[in-house]
Amino acid sequence: VQNEALARAESLIALTPDYPEPGVLFRDVSPMLADGPALRTVVEAMVAPYEGTFDIVAGIEARGFLLAGFAAALTGVGMMPIRKAGKLPRPAAAVSYALEYGTATIEAPGVLEGHERVLLFDDVLATGGTLAAAESLIADLGATVIGSAVILELEGLGGRAHVGDVHAVFTV
Ligand code: AMP
Repeated sequence: VQNEALARAESLIALTPDYPEPGVLFRDVSPMLADGPALRTVVEAMVAPYEGTFDIVAGIEARGFLLAGFAAALTGVGMMPIRKAGKLPRPAAAVSYALEYGTATIEAPGVLEGHERVLLFDDVLATGGTLAAAESLIADLGATVIGSAVILELEGLGGRAHVGDVHAVFTV
């Protein structure tokens, strides 16, 4: 029953060719997020391996927010948004990382005191650059990333090699 529910959830991830640029096959999780049973099944599967091992969840802007928020409500912990540069009034840490073209910066608020063990959330693991940057951001804040959870891992891009423990609900 659980496998059927997961298979159904995976079928709700929409494939969009040539977005945001030619040659990229974009995995749009919007239809999956819009489906109550699919959303619950997937977030429960993201959290399951880490149950009881984290004090707070962190989500990477923007789709990671949604997943972390639901996971926080499900497990009774709080959540921390990891934001793109310039959105937080008082960032406590910032990390810049390389994108295919140029660089990006992410920032976090100073809210981890008393919440030492962090579980990180994002929707897709591609090259791993974003998750690796988020891991180093949390380390700079003096906390520990106990692991990361993503909906989907794009295995061919080898992102897993650049990050700590990651649990992917689906792998393609
Ligand atoms: P990366 O830093 O390369 O692992 O890229 C991860 C970030 O880019 C995630 O936050 C994803 O939302 C997004 N991303 C990268 N590739 C894709 C893709 N093919 N489909 C959907 N999202 C993607």
